[in-house]
Amino acid sequence: MPDDFDRASDLEQAQRQRALDAQRARSNFDTPSLADCEHCGDEIPPARQKIGGVTRCVDCQTSFEKWGR
Ligand SMILES: [Zn+2]
Repeated sequence: MPDDFDRASDLEQAQRQRALDAQRARSNFDTPSLADCEHCGDEIPPARQKIGGVTRCVDCQTSFEKWGR
């Protein structure tokens, strides 16, 4: 059943791509952090900004990692 196989393979590829994107987003530590969350505009605490590459507040980052948005 080539159709079923193609679908499964597409799904697998999409999942792998998502995992790679998430990993890349997490390892982006050498870029400067934002002072405000790019998602909701809340201030990002200075202690969190020091991590580097932070673009979202804790709440938004948590839901991003959980739901992919
Ligand atoms: Zn936010």
